[in-house]
Amino acid sequence: MKNSDLKTWGARAAAWSADYLDNLRDRPVRPATRPGDVRASLPAAPPMEAESVETVFADFESLVVPHMTNWQHPRFFAYFPANSSPPSVLAEWLTATLAAQCMLWQTSPAGTEMETHVLDWLRQMTGIGEGWHGVIQGGAGLATLSAILTARDKALDWQSKEAGLFGQKRLRIYASSHMHSSVEKAVFLSGIGRDNLVKIAADDEGAMKADAFQAAIDGDRAAGHIPCAVVAVLGSTGVGVSDRLTEILPIARAEGLFSHVDAAWAGSALICPELRDFARGIELADSVVMNPHKWLMTNFDCSAHFVKSVDDFKKTMSITPAYLMTQDADDITDYSQMTMELGRRFRALKLWFVIRCYGVSGLQKIIRDHVRWTAELADRLAATQGFEITSPPRLGLFSFRIRPATVSDGEALDALNAKLVDAINGDGTLYLTQTVHDGRYVIRVSVGTTGTTADDIDIVYKKIVELAEPLQGI
Ligand SMILES: *Cc1c(COP(=O)(O)O)cnc(C)c1O
Repeated sequence: MKNSDLKTWGARAAAWSADYLDNLRDRPVRPATRPGDVRASLPAAPPMEAESVETVFADFESLVVPHMTNWQHPRFFAYFPANSSPPSVLAEWLTATLAAQCMLWQTSPAGTEMETHVLDWLRQMTGIGEGWHGVIQGGAGLATLSAILTARDKALDWQSKEAGLFGQKRLRIYASSHMHSSVEKAVFLSGIGRDNLVKIAADDEGAMKADAFQAAIDGDRAAGHIPCAVVAVLGSTGVGVSDRLTEILPIARAEGLFSHVDAAWAGSALICPELRDFARGIELADSVVMNPHKWLMTNFDCSAHFVKSVDDFKKTMSITPAYLMTQDADDITDYSQMTMELGRRFRALKLWFVIRCYGVSGLQKIIRDHVRWTAELADRLAATQGFEITSPPRLGLFSFRIRPATVSDGEALDALNAKLVDAINGDGTLYLTQTVHDGRYVIRVSVGTTGTTADDIDIVYKKIVELAEPLQGI
């Protein structure tokens, strides 16, 4: 391919993209692909001679696309959204064209300064307060890992950077029982060890119990351990519960613990002032992560990580061999000095395109629609015979199950609801996933795809009721 071929093929890819997104409703959300199907359709060895773009593009359409789970499908209600939008797609193309490495200011001045600036826009949009410095990470899990690594080294006054953890006292990390699995992963990858992750019981609303948190710290100090950090969650993955930051963060402050807030999904809702209540007190945290790649119309990967002390992250992550020295420059940010990554993508460009092309009010409208539709759908199911709401709508998420009058046994109900999920996902009209809540199998509905409309919500309601009907009679 010559550079100038991008004109023809770019136009073709653009047309394909627009048609794909416009016609997604006609495709199943999930393909009927069996494990091994895709590889069986591909040649075992790479081509020795160049193939035409025509052939490769045709194979993309016939061998790849039919075997994709369509995350941008308007009736994708599984997991959490990983949404996108036309301005984001456009910027991603341009990012690939520039193919710049954003490790140092001088390797990409615009990449670096846009990252700082656009995240400061997002800081203003979300109302999280002053004093934050933004960095874009490849995922919330990576932001949480970098926060735990920083908390670890800070607690040991960075001696660990030279000596490792050998001979050190135990570091203790606290999190609610509703934390995301990435917290556990960060704790074992950091060498702190899973035994030192203290899961604090949650109250009836799903928030970490503050007195239990305080008691755990006191007990650990008495045992000679080092209380190191707390990870609070806003919008848990199961049913969307949040810790009460106004209770947890003052304790962390008073006890000298590093605090990290995982708002991977729910954080995007902060752009709507009337939805901010769940995050009250967030300004006291040391570190906060939220994913525009989940619910802010920006395609993966774009995880916004806000930190109070850049210096703490730098002390933990920085390494400066001669070839990475920047000469004659003060007051610059070399992002690779505060992140785990050395080579870094220009991720800020797509967020800049998205914020400008929608405007804050355009993004607010989408999120408000999602939140309203979530509540309306939950209300409709609650009013339908044989259905039960198992966790109330929280932002764009609720859970339900069917509960026929004739079935009371817990395990039989679990099995029946598992059957319903299979029936729904086998049908292809929509895609839902399950979780275990309070020990019981429940079905999650997560509304957050850019292309979802009120009509889709109506179709979903009718389809769920239709597919549940044969199971309701059992
Ligand atoms: C999705 C999610 C994560 C992981 O996010 P990635 O960006 O995929 O790493 C972490 N925490 C919570 C609460 C999440 O919902």
